[in-house]
Amino acid sequence: MDSRTVALIRTTFKAVAAEEGGPEKLASSFYATLFSDYPHARDFFPAAMDSQRDRLVKAISYTLDRLEEPDRLLPFLAQLGRDHRKYGVKPEHYVAVATSLKTAMRRFTDTEMWTEEIDTAWDEGLAVIAETMIEAAEEETTPAVWTGTVVERRVVLRNLIVVRLRLDQPMNYAAGQYVSVQVPSRPRMWRYLSPAVPANADGEIEFHIRGVFGGWVSPAIVGQTKIGEQWLLGSPLGGLGVPRNIERKMLMICRGTGVAPLRAQLMAMAQRRTNPEVHLFVGGHHPCDLYDLETLSRLAAANPWLTVTPVSESDANPWWYAGSGAPEAELPGLRPRLTGQIGKVVAGLGPWSDRDVQIVGSPSMVQTTKFRLMAAGMQTEYIRHDPLF
Ligand SMILES: Cc1cc2nc3c(=O)[nH]c(=O)nc-3n(C[C@H](O)[C@H](O)[C@H](O)COP(=O)(O)OP(=O)(O)OC[C@H]3O[C@@H](n4cnc5c(N)ncnc54)[C@H](O)[C@@H]3O)c2cc1C
Repeated sequence: MDSRTVALIRTTFKAVAAEEGGPEKLASSFYATLFSDYPHARDFFPAAMDSQRDRLVKAISYTLDRLEEPDRLLPFLAQLGRDHRKYGVKPEHYVAVATSLKTAMRRFTDTEMWTEEIDTAWDEGLAVIAETMIEAAEEETTPAVWTGTVVERRVVLRNLIVVRLRLDQPMNYAAGQYVSVQVPSRPRMWRYLSPAVPANADGEIEFHIRGVFGGWVSPAIVGQTKIGEQWLLGSPLGGLGVPRNIERKMLMICRGTGVAPLRAQLMAMAQRRTNPEVHLFVGGHHPCDLYDLETLSRLAAANPWLTVTPVSESDANPWWYAGSGAPEAELPGLRPRLTGQIGKVVAGLGPWSDRDVQIVGSPSMVQTTKFRLMAAGMQTEYIRHDPLF
């Protein structure tokens, strides 16, 4: 795709997305067209479509922002294509989606602005996206979907559980990647979760799940997961991970369950002969929210290249906390806990310009932390995080 084509696609999308209520209208119009022109496509989606709409617009926006970076976009689309096999989608479904998206875009773009050149640019862009996804799906030899049986459910905080599953066959994901998951109590509502352990030959996998207030799926996982139930998992996605030959030091920053993909990477690195220096900052609201410090303490104590610093926004535990003392006390290998907003704390301890950075947490935590680091002089090309949808 040449830069003019990319510019035309981006400008039209941004014009619609920038309007008051534009993203919601675009998503509603897209799904309305898709479901009326291709009624069978409705079966791929959940009954409740509200969070689906939000995700769609964020996913389009994420893709369009990377149209000029094929080295990053094409692997992402290929992963997405492999993951979409879990729906049983066929090439004709991609045509249905592309046609409906273009129809929705045209509907909300000024008639005078939607020229023939723009129409062709959208055709070209959507064709590249669809072809990349279809090709990757067709070439893939791993299963479209894995079945995992829950073998352990452990409550670690009031609203956070650790779930261990055994997969029907091993999944060869890279530590730091994430997978889409469907639980039996929420059919067709796939959500991304990050394995908290590296892949293993026995197909054992662990997830940390926090119930998001008002969410459709996460409170159901936290409240209703039972031993023996079966979850479905799609193909691995994402580009976090520490390459074997990396020379730059690493800075890892996480909050809440964001620790999962980072501790998986640290566990994988602990099996290697040499590693770059890594400083992990692990954050939570209260000191008692730092639920995984025991594992991190063991990793830090055994691996001299790893430094772990706990950070909490509040210095005290909430009144309802039944435990006593600070969870990090008595744990070897950990730096003393710091207090403050994690992005601000880490940025204040810089400079970190000699580091590769990974940030994992809620979308707002990732964005705030990234902003703080950039304001402190960090170059964006060295900062990595998963897509925020
Ligand atoms: C790459 C990736 C990896 C992820 N890994 C994990 C993981 O390992 N463990 C885990 O618990 N979750 C993880 N998530 C988040 C998870 O996929 C769901 O988005 C989250 O559980 C909410 O789903 P829900 O159905 O309960 O909420 P929804 O019904 O989808 O959303 C309800 C409301 O909550 C908001 N919301 C959604 N997610 C969050 C959030 N994280 N923080 C604050 N508000 C939010 C939405 O904007 C919406 O307003 C990951 C997300 C991504 C993108």
